Amino acid sequence: MSSPSNLAELDLADLESAFAARSVERFRARQVFAWIYKRGVTDIEAMTDLPRDLRAALLADFTIATPQVASHERSSDGTEKFLLKLADGKHIESVFIPDTPAMTFCISTQVGCAMACAFCLTGKMGLVRNLTAGEIAGQVRVLAGALELRDKAFNIVLMGMGEPLHNYDAVMKAMSILCDTHGFHLPPRRVTLSTVGLLPALEKLGREELMPNLAISLHAPTDAQRGELVPINRKYGVADIIAACKQFPVRRRSRITFEYVMLAGVNDSADDARKLARLLAGVKAKVNLIPLNAAAGIPFERPADDVVDRFARVLAEQDVTVSVRKSRGRDIRAACGQLIVEGPEHSPAQKLATLAFD
Ligand code: SAH
Repeated sequence: MSSPSNLAELDLADLESAFAARSVERFRARQVFAWIYKRGVTDIEAMTDLPRDLRAALLADFTIATPQVASHERSSDGTEKFLLKLADGKHIESVFIPDTPAMTFCISTQVGCAMACAFCLTGKMGLVRNLTAGEIAGQVRVLAGALELRDKAFNIVLMGMGEPLHNYDAVMKAMSILCDTHGFHLPPRRVTLSTVGLLPALEKLGREELMPNLAISLHAPTDAQRGELVPINRKYGVADIIAACKQFPVRRRSRITFEYVMLAGVNDSADDARKLARLLAGVKAKVNLIPLNAAAGIPFERPADDVVDRFARVLAEQDVTVSVRKSRGRDIRAACGQLIVEGPEHSPAQKLATLAFD
């Protein structure tokens, strides 16, 4: 092999074929996989139960690229934000939320994001690049290691930087790495993928074996309103998304979450709530209201608490299950829509119009 390949990009099946190609016994692949994910080793040398000559051979051919913790902040509410540096010097953010009610890692899928939602700071960055599967799963490796949670049950929400369905293959490969019984053994139902609703990818997701829970960033009940907030709505509109959700194979006793960022005077009226309830009739839905996390450069305001309460009450009266997302980690800018990395490496934002969504 010319350049060493990166073990962090391989799921167990890939690793087994890579080892088979080198005539290394199959069980060694499981052993190495367990070292990386169960025991958190980032150095082949540390895999002490491998024969010395095998370790030497692997060292010649493989690396284990691991995101580096560039900084780590803890919020007064226990939320922890990690700034991670990737092999090419780019940065991403990942967040640990201790009790929602289970422990949760909020993981990024891209550096920046192309979706340009009007209220989201990450969207202001534009898309810098996709994360690889190894970088997506690597965030879990690093956070679980740093917080000593490798053996604990935790949830993952793909709600950090980026649009997961705009980086489909890497996300699914990361699922395969994270869910493997020889690694973290994460049940797919402990993963929630949040998306603006890229329709072809959404339909494909419904056919996956390792299928995460689904959350849809809806934010408005009509195309006129949503088109102003979520630009991709001009391509994949509200009715199409709802139709796809009705087809989506939701697990028994489970529901699709509809996220709804509440913006004062924009989408927070009782009438909007009634429209939303009508729209969701016949969908296995629960609504998660997210009062806007305001920030400089975001041209919206957070509604008063009583407006949020009224909206929730109207939904509840129409038998729609509703919760209000508690804002976490706002003092360290770790809350929804606040993940952004400033720095010279980020070239001017790529504009939505220049990108193809498929
Ligand atoms: N791109 C995916 C994953 C991001 S999830 C998606 O859009 O679903 C992050 C969630 O936080 C999304 O629902 C997003 O709309 C929401 N969000 C973005 N900016 C926000 C802000 N300023 N305040 C509150 N929520 C925000």
